[in-house]
Amino acid sequence: MQTKNPKTIYLPYMCDHSYILAASFNALGTPAYALPPPDDESLHFDLRGVTKKECLPCILTTSDIVRCSQQPGFEPSNSIILMPTANGPCRFGQYSVLQRDILNDYGFQEVEFSMSSAGNAYQGFSNDPTKLRKLVLDGGIAVDTLQKLLHEYRPYELTIGQTDAIYQEGLQRIITATKNGGGNLVINEMKWAARQFESLAVDRSEPRPIIGVIGEIYLRHNTYSNQDIIRKVEAAGGEVRLAGLMEWIYFTTWDYANLTKETGRYYDFVVTKLTDLYQKYREHQVIKPVAHLLKYPHETSVGEMLNSIQPYLDPSQGTEAVLSIGKAIDLAKYGASGIINAMPFSCMPSIIVSGIAPRLRADLDNIPWLDVIFDGQASTNFHTRLEAFMYQTTQYYRREELRIKKLRIKNS
Ligand code: SF4
Repeated sequence: MQTKNPKTIYLPYMCDHSYILAASFNALGTPAYALPPPDDESLHFDLRGVTKKECLPCILTTSDIVRCSQQPGFEPSNSIILMPTANGPCRFGQYSVLQRDILNDYGFQEVEFSMSSAGNAYQGFSNDPTKLRKLVLDGGIAVDTLQKLLHEYRPYELTIGQTDAIYQEGLQRIITATKNGGGNLVINEMKWAARQFESLAVDRSEPRPIIGVIGEIYLRHNTYSNQDIIRKVEAAGGEVRLAGLMEWIYFTTWDYANLTKETGRYYDFVVTKLTDLYQKYREHQVIKPVAHLLKYPHETSVGEMLNSIQPYLDPSQGTEAVLSIGKAIDLAKYGASGIINAMPFSCMPSIIVSGIAPRLRADLDNIPWLDVIFDGQASTNFHTRLEAFMYQTTQYYRREELRIKKLRIKNS
């Protein structure tokens, strides 16, 4: 279907899911591009109007937008920057305000901003928001799942680089399937992924401790800003479980259902509950072809995760803090031997999580925990801290294995 707006949409790159969002717009007939991933030039770009005290994701996305606007062929009057926003205490709600000002300063007043909010579960993007959301949902679940496979297989591959190659081809296939209309096309690509991973040669004779990576959504998914933390953990002997991107989408649905109920908007409440059921149904459908290859293929429901955080923080506080705490508990429950909290420097939700961590750890059998703050500077002591953390996780892993073994002998 052709959308009414023929302008070109540009999306700052956050992670590979950004390509799915662009492909979903393409499927609806709208030209859309994910900007190139940030790099050193994004970080050191001479950006007028920022103090460099802003959050790292803000600096990187803003630089990428300005860099894009300076490319030859960029037509301000025919361009839209897509920048979601949010209500609440976090600074994310101010990104688009700052970026608007900065683009004006650079003389790009004609560039339009398209904003949609987590506060209404991102309703209102595009001229066919329902279709767009369905495309993003299927494609997003597929990329989350492909990343789970990548992280569960890469540390054990016998031929270095093979898992990355499968991931890259799988990603391109999912993007193309999304552009072509999504649905069963995406499910077919998951069947393709199943065949690739089934035949991938791995050696699991030496299992590794599972390391959960939680934290601010942009940072934990953006390999440039987190200095490729997942590969560093793998190089240090761990296997990573990354908190998926789609948990945020499920959370916004859960949050909007609560809001509509509290404000007596019962029609919207029922629609949102049905949306929640539909999201769970699609999650099962998309994951089904590869479910047998993953240890824990399905996401714990947001409701269940947020119930578990009650002793530490009221879920109604919102922000990413509630999800990070819930995910840390969830990961520990499903076998993680350590948690890394990836934090942008001065990030408010991440600081809340870090403050609650000691109580949380005490209740989780003192699970090793590492807060890593990223501000765009390469930290000299990061490797040392990671090595010490990995040593602790190995000890924790061995202790837990021993405890489970003893329990099995006792019950046999
Ligand atoms: S979550 Fe943290 S890094 Fe992201 S905008 Fe909010 S304060 Fe900044």
